[in-house]
Amino acid sequence: MDPDARIAVKTGKARKLCYLAQLSVDTSHHTITHVQADFADRKDNQCLPKLLGGLTGRLRCLGLSCSHILADAGYSSGENYALLEEQGMTAFIPPHGTYKGGPEGFTYDREEDCWLCPQGKRATFRKVKVEPKGNIKKRFYLTTRRDCRGCPLREGCIGKGHEKKVEVTFYREEYERVIARLKSRYGRKMKGLRQATVEPVLGTLTNYMGLRKINTRGIQQAQKGMLLAAAAYNLRKLLRFTPKTRQSAVMALPRPSAAASLGFFGLENRGEIKKRTEASKEELLYSRVVQQLPMLALVFLLW
Ligand code: SF4
Repeated sequence: MDPDARIAVKTGKARKLCYLAQLSVDTSHHTITHVQADFADRKDNQCLPKLLGGLTGRLRCLGLSCSHILADAGYSSGENYALLEEQGMTAFIPPHGTYKGGPEGFTYDREEDCWLCPQGKRATFRKVKVEPKGNIKKRFYLTTRRDCRGCPLREGCIGKGHEKKVEVTFYREEYERVIARLKSRYGRKMKGLRQATVEPVLGTLTNYMGLRKINTRGIQQAQKGMLLAAAAYNLRKLLRFTPKTRQSAVMALPRPSAAASLGFFGLENRGEIKKRTEASKEELLYSRVVQQLPMLALVFLLW
């Protein structure tokens, strides 16, 4: 029995004792930049701060930095968006499908920090609430009883209550900034880049590097197994790496004369330069023929 293994609940998959493998991959060369073992009963978004700490620490040691973070919706949360902004990173993490910017039919007034209902009444900010379950921070808004009294929409809006209560995430501004970024052309490109970067790495690790199973006990040993798999993956990448080379044609030209140098600055007439260039071409051809002479002589003798 492994005391650190936890039951992972994934839709469509059998329940079993597992660890979470969290990893980061760089988008330019698809190398694994960080890997960590985590408890399987944790959510991905709870693992992001630790993952980020490990990643930035390692990059800093190598004199590198990371500016953009691409991840799937599982890593989204207001706290994570705020953390990434605090660290000067641009997040391309779509919000979870359950995210709602605010109550339906209400519009937010940023200047006044209040919500306007369909009847034009204001729900004003009252306090910041922290939900005991999950420590979730929310902003709390409320209309007045007087505003809602006699409203024709009352039944559908507040039911048997006396005023409208509006609760929105504390990190609404961060969410809205990320949503706007993801809707842009660059944001859509980043989404495609994320899928093309991380999915092949995960496939290789599970199918070829044996990371589908960890045959050890304890999270420390699981961490070692993941590190070894990541090292093997990166080593394989390194051995297959071929630097991009540029092909260029280089021709040796005779050393320019003082007059030609002056001609470059427009102090010699063009006819003179042409004549000198033709002469130097002839010199070059002559020198090549002279260089080839012993070889030509040898061929001739053999013949
Ligand atoms: S019940 Fe109150 S909050 Fe809801 S629509 Fe009417 S006035 Fe606005």
